[in-house]
Amino acid sequence: MSALCHILAAEIAAQGPLTVEDFMARALGDPVHGYYMKQDPFGAAGDFTTAPEISQMFGEMIGLCLADHWMRAGSPSRFILCECGPGRGTLMADIWRATKIVPGFHDAAKIVLVETSPVLRAQQVETLSAVGATGLHVARLDEVPPGPLWLVANEFFDALPIRQFVKTPTGWHARLVGLDDTGALSFGLAPEPYPPIRFDAPDGTVLEVMAAGLSFMKSLAQRIAFEGGLALILDYGHSESGFGDTLQAMRAHAFVDVLHEPGDCDLTAHVDFAALSRVGRAVGADVYGPMTQGAFLHALGIAARAAMLKEKASNPDSIDQALARLTASGATGMGDLFKVIAVGQKGDPAPAGLGVPS
Ligand code: SAH
Repeated sequence: MSALCHILAAEIAAQGPLTVEDFMARALGDPVHGYYMKQDPFGAAGDFTTAPEISQMFGEMIGLCLADHWMRAGSPSRFILCECGPGRGTLMADIWRATKIVPGFHDAAKIVLVETSPVLRAQQVETLSAVGATGLHVARLDEVPPGPLWLVANEFFDALPIRQFVKTPTGWHARLVGLDDTGALSFGLAPEPYPPIRFDAPDGTVLEVMAAGLSFMKSLAQRIAFEGGLALILDYGHSESGFGDTLQAMRAHAFVDVLHEPGDCDLTAHVDFAALSRVGRAVGADVYGPMTQGAFLHALGIAARAAMLKEKASNPDSIDQALARLTASGATGMGDLFKVIAVGQKGDPAPAGLGVPS
């Protein structure tokens, strides 16, 4: 049993069950025992691999999309180049390398990294210094200094805590984490229904609400609508809102039980891109997409970049494999499961690859 599992079980025994949202927040972000707070979870030796860790091509495409949009917005002489949840810092380092050729971009940019994990902050400093860059670390979006903002968030929203509700004959009840007869963590339901949810659905249906994600999106879109710039949000999830339990835990590249050893497994939920888009539009920003990651990267020219890299590569097959992992549909690729949306200031030029506002 993980250390956090013991702590949570004792707290639940003393004070009653936790909501799924509180459980997820503690499992990932507990200051001492939270999953992201104590380790580097990426890569072959870790628990999962993200797009920038698969290939430099991912960050190069994102970097050129951001820089192209910055130029078409008039190349403002000061702007914030921001990443939310930068992991090992690989994506920002690739963005920085790829945009070296864009006149004025580096001089105008101030890199800001929104990151809560001390372990990953240290790793990000190291990764960025290898490409001659430095960034300011902040823990929250509202600490990002003012100015127009070009931002990317890859696999960030899936780590923000969600609420879950289950339909029963007496209405929608919040899903809770309590203890079973043996003292182990187990799911249950709040005794009282939660009246604000009025949808009808068959009993047993699960509804997820990405409360933290939606409020993050609201602040982000308000900021872009007011100060200008562009936010690219990439993650796995669905283009249409729907029902279902998408909470999942991963350890060593395999799915494990969600309540298994909190703090030692990654815990994520699929992102509801339709809900994020609605929030962005509601606060007066333009929203582009959702589009699949595969279609987006192809529209930005990733196949041409792969061909260039292959000419110089000692192992050209590895470039093809990376391209397929990033863009292919089906179970082996990220191309369909991962989606992208962009948020821009109303009336600004559309970002490359994403077409007109939806
Ligand atoms: N974008 C990276 C890593 C994704 S993992 C990549 O593509 O490889 C999620 C990242 O978000 C980690 O860096 C984690 O520490 C960070 N994170 C999770 N919750 C956060 C929060 N509430 N605020 C800021 N960063 C958070």
